[in-house]
Amino acid sequence: MHSRLKSFIQEQAIKGFLAQDEGEALHALALSVKGLGPCLELGSYCGLSTLYIASACAEVGTSLYAVDHHRGSEEHQLGEEYHDPDLYDASIEKMDSFKEFRRNIDAAQLNDTVVPIVCSSALARRDWATPLAMVFIDGGHSEAMALEDCLGWSKHIVSGGYLAVHDIFEKPEEGGQGPWKALNAVLASGEFELMPQINSLGVLRKL
Ligand code: MG
Repeated sequence: MHSRLKSFIQEQAIKGFLAQDEGEALHALALSVKGLGPCLELGSYCGLSTLYIASACAEVGTSLYAVDHHRGSEEHQLGEEYHDPDLYDASIEKMDSFKEFRRNIDAAQLNDTVVPIVCSSALARRDWATPLAMVFIDGGHSEAMALEDCLGWSKHIVSGGYLAVHDIFEKPEEGGQGPWKALNAVLASGEFELMPQINSLGVLRKL
């Protein structure tokens, strides 16, 4: 991975909850699927994962679809554990991470690679028909939402492509179980194989 991107992420102090090893793993996965199609991420927030994946997409000449309603997940809302007042638009009493997301994509010169899709996962998926080389899921973390997102988006992954899911915690004392249960539900379909986990990033490869 380019040191220019690493230093950019550090200098800009991009807001986000993705560890460096997880970001670098996403970058490497996106590079490895060269020629298989575009990538898609669900849950862009301020664009940290977007920068890691899109910089790889730019290198191999493909696109990253970045799906997020930019109104924040449950834990980002006013009064919740991960609420960030900088991302709260008091005039409409809603979270808005899109402005910050756009600023970061712009500063990283990735406007010709990232396709922002500002709506819910369900709406983005409703008419989706484009085969995807890699999907990264970091959206709603409830069991129901994680399950719907992982099962729904994984259908569009091409053979040899990857499904990466953030916040995989096998034990309840380590964190929420939604993403872990969703990852296992996709694995149970028999269409994917389990790859080594990187920190809390779970990875499946489509057979
Ligand atoms: Mg996450």
